[in-house]
Amino acid sequence: MRDPFGRDITYLRVSVTDRCDFRCVYCMAEDMTFLPKAEILSLEELERLCGAFIALGVTKLRITGGEPLVRRDVMRLIEGLGARLGGGLEELTLTTNASQLARFAEGLRAAGVRRINVSLDTLDAATFTAITRWGRIERTLDGIFAAKAAGLAVKINMVALKGVNEHEVDAMLAWCGEHGFDLCLIETMPLGEIEGDRTAQYLPLSLIRARLHERWTLTPSAYRTGGPARYDTVAETGRRIGFITPMTHNFCESCNRVRLTCTGTLFMCLGQEDAADLRATLRRDASDDALQEAILAAIARKPKGHDFIIDRDHRRPALARHMSVTGG
Ligand code: SAM
Ligand code: SF4
Repeated sequence: MRDPFGRDITYLRVSVTDRCDFRCVYCMAEDMTFLPKAEILSLEELERLCGAFIALGVTKLRITGGEPLVRRDVMRLIEGLGARLGGGLEELTLTTNASQLARFAEGLRAAGVRRINVSLDTLDAATFTAITRWGRIERTLDGIFAAKAAGLAVKINMVALKGVNEHEVDAMLAWCGEHGFDLCLIETMPLGEIEGDRTAQYLPLSLIRARLHERWTLTPSAYRTGGPARYDTVAETGRRIGFITPMTHNFCESCNRVRLTCTGTLFMCLGQEDAADLRATLRRDASDDALQEAILAAIARKPKGHDFIIDRDHRRPALARHMSVTGG
């Protein structure tokens, strides 16, 4: 699948639920309304859609949410997709808050998952509960160590929040080094209505990187995971640190991915409204050919890039959609 700007689309992120057991302050409002069940694709429908993408050349699938591990029977989908590894699909990964991971780590590994991303913005128990509103850090740490014990490579995703966790980046980098995890820092993006002021949370990673350079020996690395992060190696730990900077510089030129929501809506860009309703096609009893045609028609509309801007006067998000819809 090649888009109008010559980018090959090989990476699909699939949000399997909009629900979550946390309410991270930058991601959700405290009183979120979730979608009615009838609108959500069944696991069979999700697998069929993923199969159509794989047939069209997607080699990497990431399962996300909401919190993917709160979806009932999600392992059935993961196992079904895992069975396609080697037959076109090259990598199956997951992004999770790890609250349920202790129960699932072994099964994920058995299904063919080799790498996972875990969101962890702080190592401080009180800050963790403040950021997630409802979460307990012990459960997430148990999940992370269960994943490590099961042989999964773990990358920690840390959203950099001004005045909240910016002083913890050194400690997080050292902790990741100690346990053999890569770390990826993410800038907050203006997605979805949340309580509070986004401009107050926003922290440019260029600043963090400059600060890190004072303490750590960082060397730019050619390492890529197929995502938008740019990596440095950290001489002191031997691990990598990645930076995802959607706000400070444009990461769209090499964009190889599209996002499917749990309702079967395909977003061609995280930062644009245009979307294709694949559920309608799917539920019309479409043949595999018709489904693939609908996907190709959507890819042909993939925009050149996002236009995230924080509206500083009105403090409104650039897009009304929450990150938990498209899974980041
Ligand atoms: N619940 C899982 C988790 O937290 O890892 C998966 C879904 S979550 C929406 C995916 C990623 O998006 C997380 O790493 C989270 O920190 C990030 N995220 C959520 N809202 C964001 C925002 N407004 N700006 C930047 N990153 C955001
Ligand atoms: Fe849930 Fe992940 Fe959003 Fe936090 S970032 S509220 S864990 S979906």
